[in-house]
Amino acid sequence: MEKTIAAISTPPGAGGMGVIRVSGENAVETVENIFQSISEKKVSKMKGYTAAYGKIIDRGEFIDEAVILVFKAPHSYTGEDVVEISCHGGMYITKRVLRAVLANGAAPAGPGEFTKRAFLNGKMGLTEAESVMDIISAQGKQSARTALSVLEGKLRKRIESVRDILVGLAAHLSAWADYPEDEIPEIDEDQLITGLSESKARLEKILGEYDAGKVMREGVDTVIAGRPNVGKSTLMNLLSGCERSIVTNIPGTTRDVIEETVMLGNIPLKLSDTAGIRNTDDPVESIGVKIAKERLMSAGLIFAVFDSSEPLSDDDMELLEMLSDAPAVAVINKTDLENRIEIDIIREKCSHIVFISAKSGNGSEMLAKEVENIIGTDKIDASQGMIANERQRSDAENALGSINEALDAINMGITFDAVTVIIEDAINSLLELTGERVTEAVVDRVFSNFCVGK
Ligand code: GDP
Repeated sequence: MEKTIAAISTPPGAGGMGVIRVSGENAVETVENIFQSISEKKVSKMKGYTAAYGKIIDRGEFIDEAVILVFKAPHSYTGEDVVEISCHGGMYITKRVLRAVLANGAAPAGPGEFTKRAFLNGKMGLTEAESVMDIISAQGKQSARTALSVLEGKLRKRIESVRDILVGLAAHLSAWADYPEDEIPEIDEDQLITGLSESKARLEKILGEYDAGKVMREGVDTVIAGRPNVGKSTLMNLLSGCERSIVTNIPGTTRDVIEETVMLGNIPLKLSDTAGIRNTDDPVESIGVKIAKERLMSAGLIFAVFDSSEPLSDDDMELLEMLSDAPAVAVINKTDLENRIEIDIIREKCSHIVFISAKSGNGSEMLAKEVENIIGTDKIDASQGMIANERQRSDAENALGSINEALDAINMGITFDAVTVIIEDAINSLLELTGERVTEAVVDRVFSNFCVGK
């Protein structure tokens, strides 16, 4: 029998409301000990999905007013009896109510323990459980949509479709090997290769989306570069929608690297507005320039800003030279002014060009489109369920490795017995991915990343 657990499920800090969640066989009894309903109805007499209003009283001391919500097993988040106590928010009251719950028979919940129980009670698969955490930490609409689609089981279904092909092949192979007298038609090599190749293609597609998906969840390190006065700070302010860095018309005033995360379309950008890249004698500024160059080399995305109202300068050319092979957009700014820039030279060096006016905001949608294009997020459909973390990626990678091994083995003419074993390895990796065959250690590791209360 699992012990009854409790934790504060709302974030710490001042808030209008706080929720203490209690789950387990004694959840109802535990809350009954500290809750006095206004209607004098006992908690144990309440039906599932009903609420009651009353007072939390711990050993005679009135603590707070509260609403409790009762869920009866198996119709709850964890699959156990659950009581949620909604009281006033804030550090003191929620902790005090939790203390009362713990003094009356519940144990403190470990990190992710509610969701872990939901998984162990078959309420959700492992990939779905993991996505609960992604939903909580989702920063943008797209990453929330991805996590929700995983919660709906879309990733599991995609993985299962591959597993089913492999199980079909393995079952046929072993039946044929184990019962030769039963006249099971011998599986032909073409059939085997077709099935394995199909599985390989599906896994490669899923794995190929991982990097783009990661960008959507975690954001991409973006550097805004350009010589002084081209409009870097103005662009940064446009993207972040507020006056963040100091905009001036004296060249070289943006000395420090300023960072913040903004959403451009569906993609979170971790922006740093860097000092202009140009050679200078001013020691403070030259430190900024050095940092800027280093950032540029390691950035996931570069906005190289140019002033369309002036011909290209030496500093502009130096920046252009650094862009080759980098994930860069040439942002041609100040399009509201008369055009004097040699756009053909920029075109030679950089294949992604966007024309904007950072001052008026014209052209920012084109910038968003171009970024999606560079990062590859325009080609993936976030609603179909994507691999969300390293654990899932490594299992998919292992399965793909085994499939490739099986294909090689067939090419080398190795016996079907040996091929069957390799296909089973691939199946095992996929079963581990979906959590159907997973060790306790893996489950513990998954949930240790959660916060308490989830
Ligand atoms: P930085 O040194 O690259 O950060 O450039 P700033 O953002 O400080 O801008 C330098 C000057 O250019 C400021 O006076 C801005 O108002 C002006 N500026 C920036 N973007 C535009 C634009 O799109 N059109 C026009 N006309 N002026 C701009």
